[in-house]
Amino acid sequence: MLGQSYFQLIGPLIFVVFSFGFGLVWRYAPDIRAIPYFALSYFLGASAMTGDFFRNAMDPVVAMYVINPLYIATAVSFCAGLFTFYSGRVPWKPLALQSLAILAALSWFKFGHEDIVMRTMVMNTGAFVLFGYAAVGLRRQMTRLVDRILQTVVMINAVQLLLRTLVVLWFERSTLTESNYADSVAALSLHFAVSVAALALAGILFVMFGMEIVANLTKTSETDPLTGVLNRRGLNARVAALPAEPPNATAHVVVLADIDRFKKINDRHGHEAGDRIIGHFARLLGCTARDDDFVVRWGGEEFMVVMPGADIAMARLYAESVRTAFEGLRHDCIGGEAVTASFGIAAWSAANPIAEAARFADRALYSAKRAGRNRVCVHGAGRPDEAARNAVA
Ligand code: GH3
Ligand code: MG
Ligand code: MG
Repeated sequence: MLGQSYFQLIGPLIFVVFSFGFGLVWRYAPDIRAIPYFALSYFLGASAMTGDFFRNAMDPVVAMYVINPLYIATAVSFCAGLFTFYSGRVPWKPLALQSLAILAALSWFKFGHEDIVMRTMVMNTGAFVLFGYAAVGLRRQMTRLVDRILQTVVMINAVQLLLRTLVVLWFERSTLTESNYADSVAALSLHFAVSVAALALAGILFVMFGMEIVANLTKTSETDPLTGVLNRRGLNARVAALPAEPPNATAHVVVLADIDRFKKINDRHGHEAGDRIIGHFARLLGCTARDDDFVVRWGGEEFMVVMPGADIAMARLYAESVRTAFEGLRHDCIGGEAVTASFGIAAWSAANPIAEAARFADRALYSAKRAGRNRVCVHGAGRPDEAARNAVA
């Protein structure tokens, strides 16, 4: 009996350790809003199992209305964590309705028709429904391998809650009483199975949050903080991910864009106003680009746009659209003045290093500047003036 009692404390101990573990991860990744729900779920689970340990010392009605709601809240909080992580919103109404239905059924089998076997069945079936609801409801969002593993373990836990209880109660149904429940096979096997599931689920969740933290760090380290576009590290990562040969055998195209006479803007209106203009230009480059193109802050007020699989004509059309739209903007931060930009374009085959294309695009950009700025030049398209005239109106 004593051995069994101590064994019963292993479950709550595991839950408490993981609850603190989730709290610790949340400190370092406060933007993952699902974590507090999992920390709370494990803490509530520990409280519920500890409650079971002291069940015999409590008034049966008090025990029922304290311990069982704790178990329900454990499952609800876990499901809320899953919904927050995968869909960003928790379906509180259905979760609350399911919880109330479980409590109503428990109350019926306490006061309407006293039956501990049915109460045990109701509790476990209720948890099966809650976990199953989350695993099935989120099936479209749980697509990666790690999500599928998590979903499978959640489902296995749900099914064991139902099947294990059915099997155990089949054998224990005639001997189970209020006073021997704490040491019953129904309670002990519940604690054991739920502890194993909690271990597996926490392991998967920690891996998943680790992946999330690494992905966020990578994104931050590859993004320019002023404009939100890629920095050079981001460019290298995206270029490395491009297919060696574009599928339609045409070259990629690189566009270099530089704001005209930007030093003057800084001198006359201050660095902060200059920063805003850089932001406006980056946004325009980004929203005019195709989905597969990527915009990079090449340095200062100079940007590179890589257009995978595009041809020179497409790139020219793109650069001209940005050029005319930018020219037409009036910037409040510099007293409603207009600003212009120049563009250099060069083709790039994935087999050659991008630095080569960047050099050619830079030469074309230089030609555009020399030809009077506010124009688009293509590398190898003839003399700068000719190239400027070739620009799509
Ligand atoms: P050009 O038409 O020939 O391009 O003339 P420009 O004045 O734009 O010349 P250049 O491109 O050489 O000037 C770049 C200036 O951009 C120099 C630097 O002070 C400024 N700059 C670089 N980075 C930033 C930044 O992050 N914010 C601001 N406000 N200014 C920057
Ligand atoms: Mg400039
Ligand atoms: Mg420049």
